[in-house]
Amino acid sequence: MEPQERLKILSSDMDFELAEDFNCPKIESKKKYSGFVHDAVMPNGKTIPLLKTLLTSACERDCHYCPFRAARNFRRTTLKPDEMAQIFMGMHRAGIVEGLFLSSGLIGGGVSTQDRLIDTAYILRKKLGFKGYLHLKIMPGVEIDQVEQAMKLANRVSINLEAPNPKRLNILAPHKEFGDELLQPLKWINGIRSSNPKNTSWNGRWPSVATQFVVGGAGESDVELLSTTEYLYQDLNLRRTYFSPFNPVKDTPLEGQPATKLQRESRLYQASFLIRDYGFSMEELPFNQQGNLQDSDPKLSWAKLHLTENPVEINQANKEQLLRIPGIGPKGAATLLRERRKNRLRSVEELRNIGINPTRVVPFILLDGHRPSRQLSLL
Ligand code: SF4
Repeated sequence: MEPQERLKILSSDMDFELAEDFNCPKIESKKKYSGFVHDAVMPNGKTIPLLKTLLTSACERDCHYCPFRAARNFRRTTLKPDEMAQIFMGMHRAGIVEGLFLSSGLIGGGVSTQDRLIDTAYILRKKLGFKGYLHLKIMPGVEIDQVEQAMKLANRVSINLEAPNPKRLNILAPHKEFGDELLQPLKWINGIRSSNPKNTSWNGRWPSVATQFVVGGAGESDVELLSTTEYLYQDLNLRRTYFSPFNPVKDTPLEGQPATKLQRESRLYQASFLIRDYGFSMEELPFNQQGNLQDSDPKLSWAKLHLTENPVEINQANKEQLLRIPGIGPKGAATLLRERRKNRLRSVEELRNIGINPTRVVPFILLDGHRPSRQLSLL
């Protein structure tokens, strides 16, 4: 089979993997590639066409939720590192893709599989001169030297924890070791970034780091997922945790389980951003008795409880206090701090003029000592 045909097969089953922020498939790409080139939003906010693919769809493990598990009967295929690098560069030179997200099924163990991923990255960077975006997956059970090599070649590295702790991982993937195989590489990455000069990497910057959870497949609560997320953001400096809603796959041990509702995914993202960017702690998030987030925006729920009777004076609050107000994010807080140095803010019209949506903030603020809700009704 031609390498292009194999690439098409390898890329077509990758929808469960979220590693960047994806928009719709890039259907305007040349016809033979459309469907597996995705518009992806990069960590810097730029959108690029990204090829998301595997080196091989064969796998020796039997994770209970995964479409690539060994016991599943479907057509599998493989590309060698050189084939993958050449075909990707062909697409890149033709203007079809700007970046690559490269993962793999496990064959011959994590060390051997990681070697093939690193070989592909090495050929792209050192032999073919690729200077674009490269996201490399770190395989379970790799060695520390391999993690460092991958970091020197990639813009982003990631290893999927899949579950928030060993007990839950045992339900999803009983043959994976949570601590030694999955969490340890994330600790190594953090250690390498903090103790080695970044100018040894290909572009003078260490890659960002991400992980992914399969949400709802192991009966875990939101408290479990977000406690681990808090640890990853605060102690291991991860850039992003992704929440991939569980979807049952035919011919897997979990095929009879219901799919996870998208609403849960959305609440988890909202809560994780509150932890990462807004200074919220786990204790402040609104969980129910089962340890799950309530079915409403967690920041709004917190504000209704804490700010309705104690509104925040927009002209005096510090950045942390501003970030607690629904409708004000890091950008809005920075704008407010800048604008109020020039003028005292007195009206909702002034808020609107600097890009703050008054409807969301008004129930929780004071403007120059006054509640502005009446002003809003007059607009
Ligand atoms: S090791 Fe990865 S590819 Fe293989 S079955 Fe498990 S999750 Fe799927």
